Amino acid sequence: MVTTEKPSVGVAPGRGMGMVGNIAGATTEEIARQARERLGKDSLLGPYTAVHVFWLAGMSCDGCSIAVLGATAPRVEDLLLGTLPGLPQVFLHHTAINVEAGEPFMRAARSAAEGTLGVPYVVVYEGSVADEARAGEGYWSAVGEELDEARGEARAVPSATWLKRMAPGAAAVIAIGTCATWGGIPAAYHNPTGAMGVMDFLGPEYRSALGLPVVNIPGCAPVGDNFTETVAAVLLFLQGLGPVPEFDELGRPAWLFSETVHRQCNRAGYYEEGTFADSPGDRECLVEIGCWGPVVNCNITSRGAINGVGGCMHAGGVCIGCTMPGFPDKFAPFYKAAPGVLVSSSISKTGGALVRALRRVTQRDRNHSTRWDREKRIPSGWGAEYELPVVDRTLEFLYNRRQRHGTAAKPE
Ligand code: SF4
Ligand code: SF4
Repeated sequence: MVTTEKPSVGVAPGRGMGMVGNIAGATTEEIARQARERLGKDSLLGPYTAVHVFWLAGMSCDGCSIAVLGATAPRVEDLLLGTLPGLPQVFLHHTAINVEAGEPFMRAARSAAEGTLGVPYVVVYEGSVADEARAGEGYWSAVGEELDEARGEARAVPSATWLKRMAPGAAAVIAIGTCATWGGIPAAYHNPTGAMGVMDFLGPEYRSALGLPVVNIPGCAPVGDNFTETVAAVLLFLQGLGPVPEFDELGRPAWLFSETVHRQCNRAGYYEEGTFADSPGDRECLVEIGCWGPVVNCNITSRGAINGVGGCMHAGGVCIGCTMPGFPDKFAPFYKAAPGVLVSSSISKTGGALVRALRRVTQRDRNHSTRWDREKRIPSGWGAEYELPVVDRTLEFLYNRRQRHGTAAKPE
């Protein structure tokens, strides 16, 4: 949606917005402090009525766009309509979604690059950034054309060039997906393009007009909600209504990526009890058939893939580490157990076997009502039997004694 609408308040991006000095390697707190100081000086904080988002595509499969269009909390529609309290309306410039083409589509991007847009803007980059110097006479990924005066002909403008032009004046640069964050599949061994992530391309000293280093939302494809929620948090900050969102040392939203897949996996209980799947259709823990969940930062197990539903383990898939900077090379070959599994699953099998057996005893007992205990029968037409083995009864007797020890509770 290209617009020429001007906000009622705001400053032209690019005005007095050079990069913060050399603070490469600063902590998140330090970055937040410098951003606050900087914003205090330059008065960049809103509220704004409109913010433009320029979605640039590098070496991408468009999977990130599809993932984001499926986001539900918040929805892209809500951002575009400006119906979220406190947030400005988002005007999205996306090659696959906008109806404009040619120069009408490119006009706003040119204004942003020249610092004359008159409204704050955010750059979102999907796909890895190719080394266009290796493209010879052609290009790896591009949008729009410009006259090459030396050749006297129009030539495509690489996405990387737009990124370089627009990043300094952007309120934030957000890399979406593992290709844009760390390089991803296009940057795998033997790739001919020199593909890299946005922060590799812009360098460690890059800071946006708001003083933020590159924000990274990894995943192949990423969870759409992770993106829209982060955009909302950054926009709240831009509006002057929220704090600098908390990012980790790699620029990932800390509240989304600090946990491992394994800690929130619906199969973690099987791991703890030492039972493992032999094939993807099994219900147990998948670590012995190639799951890297215990060491991978990703929240799909708690957030789901779309609308809180789905996700790799829910669907029977192992974690191949798609959110990680080491993906894909350091996780290949996929579906082969990681070397560390030999140690961890052996330990969990040993301890888990005992824990599993003891839990089964208690679980059987807790499946009996106290009435059935008194009557020593289960009136079930489904065939449930009351009688327990002597060992179970003894263990349960001792267990119950221990449970009530030191309290007034007494069995009947
Ligand atoms: S399937 Fe993977 S993430 Fe889930 S419990 Fe097993 S190792 Fe952990
Ligand atoms: S669980 Fe693993 S494979 Fe699945 S999305 Fe997360 S990092 Fe990627």
